[in-house]
Amino acid sequence: MPVEGSGDGRMSLTLFKKTNFSGRSHPVTSSHPNLRATPVGYRTRSLTLSSETDRALLFSRRQYGGRVAFACGSREVPHCGREFFRPLRAVRIDPFRLHLNVTVVRSGRDFPGSWTGERDALAAIDAAIDWANRVWATGMLWLERKSTRVLHDPRTFELRWPWSRVPSEWTRSGMIDVVFVHRIGRRGSFARRTPPLDRSTIVLGRMVKRGEIRNELMGHGLAHELGHRLGLGHASPRDDRLNLMAPGSPISLDPANLRLHPDQIERVHRSLAANRGRQVERHN
Ligand SMILES: [Zn+2]
Repeated sequence: MPVEGSGDGRMSLTLFKKTNFSGRSHPVTSSHPNLRATPVGYRTRSLTLSSETDRALLFSRRQYGGRVAFACGSREVPHCGREFFRPLRAVRIDPFRLHLNVTVVRSGRDFPGSWTGERDALAAIDAAIDWANRVWATGMLWLERKSTRVLHDPRTFELRWPWSRVPSEWTRSGMIDVVFVHRIGRRGSFARRTPPLDRSTIVLGRMVKRGEIRNELMGHGLAHELGHRLGLGHASPRDDRLNLMAPGSPISLDPANLRLHPDQIERVHRSLAANRGRQVERHN
């Protein structure tokens, strides 16, 4: 099944068996969990990327494990061992999928956001996921809503900073848990997102900007908190106010304007690769 942002034939990563772009070569047109079957085998010594939109994850172990390097843009790497590592055993040019387990908590008659009912809520959540994907596809990740439930909880959903935990029955192993609540803490309807409370669950409240409930803030909230969930801290706002991980309100709500640094992308994939076998969150 094709995924937006995946290799579409314009990808132009080429692997060479010798340094300085010599010896046998292999133009990469699909992801390879095991490079052994290709003409370069495990002996890639140099590589080129020839389009500004090219991006690839390089792995030291088969099945996308071990050490991870992220290469992007038009560039030539004459000596892989010096620039990244050797041997290279797997290459990924398609985003990995992350499965989301979505829980919507109604409080009284109120749905989170300005949502009027279940159908409205799911449409807004899918729009938020689309929004997040426009940023995270550049980081080789693709979010999918895999399971969903709407719960009614007559109590106001209070989260006690910093150690609140969502009920365990709302979480699923092998998935990223995202909970939408009407409000968070004592901020009433002005509640907004909090960082993942136990570093494993993303909780998003009704999000308001200048008195107006804005669904696209949910998209930014989801994308930003996913970054925390996958181990990223805040980017320095002085360095890059358009970074997805800049703290505070987003400077732009157009996902095309927001970005991730290559080292942030590398860090996220390193932690997902290390997760392999323990808790599978990353899917092909
Ligand atoms: Zn944050």
